[in-house]
Amino acid sequence: MNYKLTEHTSELHNCPSCGKQALVQYETYQYRCLWCGFDRDVSRMSPALPSWLAFVISSILLGLLL
Ligand SMILES: [Zn+2]
Repeated sequence: MNYKLTEHTSELHNCPSCGKQALVQYETYQYRCLWCGFDRDVSRMSPALPSWLAFVISSILLGLLL
């Protein structure tokens, strides 16, 4: 089996944050955008999380950056 020789980072996906094709999978459940630094852990994504809550959290994070 030579499947392990294949690197996950060879595939780029569209970033949901900046829209560029720079999203790499660097762990089984983790993605990061090389362009804008967008980070996503899909293993901890909750289907019950309402979109407004995600908006509030991102707003708070944005406020901390500014
Ligand atoms: Zn991005």
